[in-house]
Amino acid sequence: MGCYSKEELDMFRHGEMSVLSRICCKAHLKECEACQHRLAELCEDDLLVKELQQRVSVYEKINFDNKKILTSEL
Ligand SMILES: [Zn+2]
Repeated sequence: MGCYSKEELDMFRHGEMSVLSRICCKAHLKECEACQHRLAELCEDDLLVKELQQRVSVYEKINFDNKKILTSEL
């Protein structure tokens, strides 16, 4: 059996694969370092996205607070 693409591994991760595909994928992951690595990369991407989202929300909060200060001064 061939290796899984990032898209497929992403589906596996989110439980969007059929039960049979998931069992095959799991078995493959146990033996394939390349796919394990790809799966780990997906998890790293997730962390990065989360971090970016947090930064955006912090930025929005600062922006909001600044507006509040500005409007309260007026
Ligand atoms: Zn593989």
